[in-house]
Amino acid sequence: MFSKLLVANRGEIACRVFATAKRMGIRTVAVFSEVDAEGLHVQLADEACCIGPAEASKSYLNIDAILDAAKRVGAEAIHPGYGFLSENADFVDAVEAAGLTFIGPSAESIRQMGFKDAARSIMERVGVPIVPGYHGDKQHADALASEAEEIGYPLLVKACAGGGGKGMRRVNSAAELASAVEGACREAQSGFGNGKLLIEKLIQQPRHIEVQVFGDTHGSLVHLFERDCSLQRNHQKVIEEAPAPGISDEFREAVTSAAIKAAKAVDYVGAGTVEFIADGSGPLRPDGFWFLEMNTRLQVEHTVTEEITGEDLVEWQIRVAAGEKLPKEQDEIAIAGHAFESRIYAEDVSSGFLPVTGRIPHLTFGRARVDTGVQSGNVVSPWYDPLIAKVITSGHSRCQALSAMRNALADTHIAGVETNIGLLSALCEHDDFAAGRVDTGLIDRDFSALTELDPKHFDEAVALGAFVALDIVDRGPFAGWRQWGSSEHRLQLTYKQESVLRRLVLSGPSSAKLLGGDAPVLISDLCRDGSRIRADVNGVVTCADVYAWLQENGDTRVSVLSHGTTTGFTIPNPLNQGEEPDGAKDEILSPITGIVRSVDVELGANVGAGDPLLTVEAMKMEIRITADAERTIGEILCAEGDSVESGAVLVRFAELAADESGGS
Ligand code: ADP
Repeated sequence: MFSKLLVANRGEIACRVFATAKRMGIRTVAVFSEVDAEGLHVQLADEACCIGPAEASKSYLNIDAILDAAKRVGAEAIHPGYGFLSENADFVDAVEAAGLTFIGPSAESIRQMGFKDAARSIMERVGVPIVPGYHGDKQHADALASEAEEIGYPLLVKACAGGGGKGMRRVNSAAELASAVEGACREAQSGFGNGKLLIEKLIQQPRHIEVQVFGDTHGSLVHLFERDCSLQRNHQKVIEEAPAPGISDEFREAVTSAAIKAAKAVDYVGAGTVEFIADGSGPLRPDGFWFLEMNTRLQVEHTVTEEITGEDLVEWQIRVAAGEKLPKEQDEIAIAGHAFESRIYAEDVSSGFLPVTGRIPHLTFGRARVDTGVQSGNVVSPWYDPLIAKVITSGHSRCQALSAMRNALADTHIAGVETNIGLLSALCEHDDFAAGRVDTGLIDRDFSALTELDPKHFDEAVALGAFVALDIVDRGPFAGWRQWGSSEHRLQLTYKQESVLRRLVLSGPSSAKLLGGDAPVLISDLCRDGSRIRADVNGVVTCADVYAWLQENGDTRVSVLSHGTTTGFTIPNPLNQGEEPDGAKDEILSPITGIVRSVDVELGANVGAGDPLLTVEAMKMEIRITADAERTIGEILCAEGDSVESGAVLVRFAELAADESGGS
């Protein structure tokens, strides 16, 4: 067995691998980029090496720097986690050439499955069903159009080198094909350095069913049953579960055998996942599923398989890489119970799941297995995937595991950045999901109901939050806050960019009344233990988690978790009140911290509403920015390839530019 293992990754998966390695008595090594020096994975490892600047291409994707670190500390094996270099066959070759062990499949298996088109050809050859489509070499728009006619609309255009839903476009009719092909190709070229596309028939009401497989170097290959990952947004998984709800033994037998056949076709060793799309318009049929792709690594959602089988898949990976036999044979592996995984992301669900960045000064989780790489004080940076944590629950039955998930999410408080917890909680309450009726369109279809705000407890959250903020402000640097000493406070809050006015009347040392909302909120007998508070709210003793912190400009940010909902608001610094922010409207600001992918206009050009101006890319999203009215381009303040901060001015329209230079 290895004595020292390096994880060429960051965040929760690095922490996850370290936990198993430590249990196995293996010393652990972290690598980190300059912005990750405070990361949890760095703290959890026995040793850590900085491998370069924030940009992934210079750190987590920098093969030389990683191998150099491994040599420096004397690591014998490298675990790649998922993402980054995990499916990079050249990395495997380089690791092996350096005399180290790669914890994963052979470079050859990765190469064979690395491109969706090549993988489809292999599956065709060995008799695993594939989605009807075209994966040939003809890439000209006209050639793709005639293939598309034959397949029939609606269809999907996919990047052959794609992953994470990137470079994928739905095309409803021939008229949409050309622009979809162009967009997908550009995204694929910039994301994967390869613009080759394939076309697949769009399966209606599909379910995403995948099978965990495992091979060893002694010729054994087993499966650890299936996972259902049908709850998706933008083709990315949101909540996963195992086993898949409502499937027959016949279907399970068919899908797991197909997965074994797929893995065998590439002599697979280590942990892998064979993904299928299944016709979910009725009960799953043994002849109603098709191969999508094989992921030649550990998946984010491996946890639910661990929960239902009781196995540690990272331990299996390490043992197989060390040349041991698989810990179990097929007939020794069984399903016990049910498990769910919710992915908590820093993102703005209501604006199309745009990733958000920022510091998380405080986070607490409910009762569940939580795999995370974030601790209080860490920053979600624009450089990497915005996953904050995976919350995993299990139970004897699906119903029990889902209830556990509801409770765990209701007790999870992440302050400082917007997250998708509200959506995850709403999904756990969704009737169809609760009944196991899932398909990949569920979130889109019911999006407004799932994201409806429940303002019922807003005033209660404001009252509890203001009470706690009062403590903070007493310690704050501004004399102006002393006004809190009076018995009535005017609370001019900012909530979701809107200004909200309330009055907090203090009637005793631990009692108060919040006025100005729909109904008064009476609070008494408040007691506090760190961020946890208990108070009588309108006659009911209620628990909440409240965190308030001062910002650099003197504003106080408050985050309150009560009734399973997190409410964040700002109490502006009274010293700044009255100052209007510089309200220049005739500018285009970057909606996100990212990289300018294209500038589609020229100086002096006249544009109309809807005309494209620029494309900014951040993490896994490409955001097209269009003009909202007829305008003339006065100034372009960015160029293709520039890194831009959220809120940075990208384009200024002519009228404003003229105003600013004193023109009339
Ligand atoms: P990626 O590698 O980018 O994740 P996949 O091919 O694995 O792309 O597909 C991701 C998701 O997109 C699937 O889980 C499914 O929801 C959807 N999808 C992919 N192919 C199809 C298809 N042919 N019909 C319907 N949905 C599909």
